[in-house]
Amino acid sequence: MNVVLIGFRGTGKTESGRLLARLLDVPFYDSDALVEEEAGSAVHEIFEREGEEGFRAREKRVIAGLPPGPGVFATGGGVILDPENVERLRRGRTVILLSADEVTIEKRIQHSTRPALTRMGLRAEIHALLEARKDAYLAAADFCVDTSARSANEVAMIIKRILVEGVTREEGRKDALRFVESSGIPAAEVEQLAAMIRSIPENPAMRFYGIAGFPSLHSRSPPLFQRLFSYFEINAFYTRFHDPSFSRIFSIVQDMGVRGLSVTIPFKQEVLQYLDHMDEHSKAIGACNTALLCGDESYGYNTDWVGIRDPLASLSGSTAVILGAGGAAASAAYALRSLDMEITILNRTVERAVALAARFGCHHGSFRDFDGIKPAVVVNATPVGMEPDTASPLAKSQLSPSMTVFDLVYTPPETPLLRAARSARCTVIPGKEMFIRQAKAQFRQFTGIDAPLEMIREIVG
Ligand code: NAP
Repeated sequence: MNVVLIGFRGTGKTESGRLLARLLDVPFYDSDALVEEEAGSAVHEIFEREGEEGFRAREKRVIAGLPPGPGVFATGGGVILDPENVERLRRGRTVILLSADEVTIEKRIQHSTRPALTRMGLRAEIHALLEARKDAYLAAADFCVDTSARSANEVAMIIKRILVEGVTREEGRKDALRFVESSGIPAAEVEQLAAMIRSIPENPAMRFYGIAGFPSLHSRSPPLFQRLFSYFEINAFYTRFHDPSFSRIFSIVQDMGVRGLSVTIPFKQEVLQYLDHMDEHSKAIGACNTALLCGDESYGYNTDWVGIRDPLASLSGSTAVILGAGGAAASAAYALRSLDMEITILNRTVERAVALAARFGCHHGSFRDFDGIKPAVVVNATPVGMEPDTASPLAKSQLSPSMTVFDLVYTPPETPLLRAARSARCTVIPGKEMFIRQAKAQFRQFTGIDAPLEMIREIVG
């Protein structure tokens, strides 16, 4: 058994970790104690002498040099802020997030000798740091355990049970098998997924991830994420949930103990009603493409907008046109606003352009208005040009070399709009770039690991 405990101070990592190591009959390691050993001084002395930066550098060295295990490894509260630490901790280990409410944490740590990281006072510091770290904690964990009303002994027993039995029930696994067998995914995939579900009793710490969409058979996410999980030695299997009913998908997701979902058409809005928590981006866009489940809670994130923002990041402050006023256009408007662009939304149905423009403080119009705008950035968020359509939403004569044209359509890779833009000597960004960038952000949300862009690009091909 190779287990890492992460979480804020006062969530019981050291005490429960020691008990867990005894229950599992493996050595116990505490990253703070190893840092103290390496430095020959206590954590508060390291902070006084070297500041938080010096402490984090020592902590990083300790994480890089951890013994391979088996063992139980308790880590410092800020360890997960560095994705390289997360990558090292996760390889070949099961990560458990311990959490507790703020009142409990305050009670547990009020007499500690650990240095404050801010000057705000203990309660306010706990609140601020938890807010700042909550997404990173959630991303880095395989399983979540709330320790608030539990003794260290109870927590150790719960973790042992998770490691030995997992979090699914036999009845749920049978339902999941029935669902998979009738879901219409290719026979080879059915067989593989059924084998993985049947293997849960022998590999109870394995986590499932998948794409929820209808249709989802064309998605490139399964091979991409499966390769990334294997490369980073994460005990996880990424599959496809292909069904017209999201409520049916969500019920199977719970039966299988799924940890994370990529959410695609037509469920990006519907999923919101199934989530206990939502990040600010999903709220503003009104859609979510990434759902996480841990403990008894569910969380929604949006990484689509990151996939539009990042390739355009060097063009902040430009004048931009978005073609379309649907879901992808909302993500585009949010992304371009974050880059301080002056945006005009043009749509076939002008009332929808008016409504979307009002939400994000943009101008609006119909496609006929394009020529009067002379934008530096054009984003196509309509399906025009998507196979088998061979039309382009703009003619070559409407484009000029100063424009950057980003077509969100990615089948075919070279759309009629991109062909027109290339021959007008524009800078072009293909739709695949959005997929690659949003997938990188989604993998970070799924695992806390920052997978290199080039690696994702190479896998996607
Ligand atoms: P959506 O919500 O259905 O919105 C479609 C938009 O396109 C609407 O504004 C619609 O105008 C407009 N439109 C549809 N057919 C049109 C036509 N023939 N001529 C002019 N306008 C037309 O769809 P969505 O989810 O936003 O997706 C839009 C596109 O983005 C999809 O084709 C997809 O390929 C692409 N996308 C790419 C990625 C990626 O990773 N690269 C991710 C998401 C989406 P009306 O309001 O008049 O109906």
